[in-house]
Amino acid sequence: MPNHIEKMLVPNLQNWENLRILIQSTKDEILQVAHTTVQTKLHYANMQLNLLNQVYEPPSSFEKMFMKRSIFESIIINLVSALESTAHVMNQIYELGIDYKQVTIDHKFFYNERRHNQASRNCLRCKIKDLNPKLASFLDEALQRGSPSEQWYEAVMEYRHQIVHRPHFIAMQIAGGPRGYFLPDDPKIMTQKVTFDKKIHQPIYSNFTLMREMKQFAESSASLILFIVEEIHGLILDDNKIKERMKKFFEF
Ligand SMILES: [Zn+2]
Repeated sequence: MPNHIEKMLVPNLQNWENLRILIQSTKDEILQVAHTTVQTKLHYANMQLNLLNQVYEPPSSFEKMFMKRSIFESIIINLVSALESTAHVMNQIYELGIDYKQVTIDHKFFYNERRHNQASRNCLRCKIKDLNPKLASFLDEALQRGSPSEQWYEAVMEYRHQIVHRPHFIAMQIAGGPRGYFLPDDPKIMTQKVTFDKKIHQPIYSNFTLMREMKQFAESSASLILFIVEEIHGLILDDNKIKERMKKFFEF
């Protein structure tokens, strides 16, 4: 256990801290636990990011290679978990009344418009629109689902899904390509074509055209999710009705 662990934790979370001060003496334990979890999961991800950087340092070894994918997978799981905990914070603060087990950061059934419309009364993201429209628009802008090749957020969520539910490794080494581990353009595609590019004398893998390098992807995802989490907390604090709303939680 490194004794300088505090240096590996996520630095300044100013908006998160300001909300902590606001809610610290409320009687809502679910809110407090969810809010603490957001920070803890970001700490986990940051600590693992630090470890990932260490195992990437030369010289390479079997042990380091073995650790790379394991650490990457943990980072993705913790980052998504930080976002999902933020959804619980919103559900509590805005008293959305969505069942604990049904709370999720995405629109319900976002992949099926008809099912989404039927479930919109239980959709956290739809319900936020009436209470904090700025927060709702920010989330719609920042967390776009769709094509994993085009939308970073879709890729993160789909990588997490594959890591948790599928019996295969998400990051692959590309034979004949650059050294290192790369992530597929679309994690749902299990088969792919390999062609040979005569000009560059390299094989081209149809599902690895973006060449998303594992460490770079983990680093950019961590910064983006940190920004999104802080922005969500900032937009909650900017809501001029939030203090009034909080008062209710202090009553016995
Ligand atoms: Zn919705």
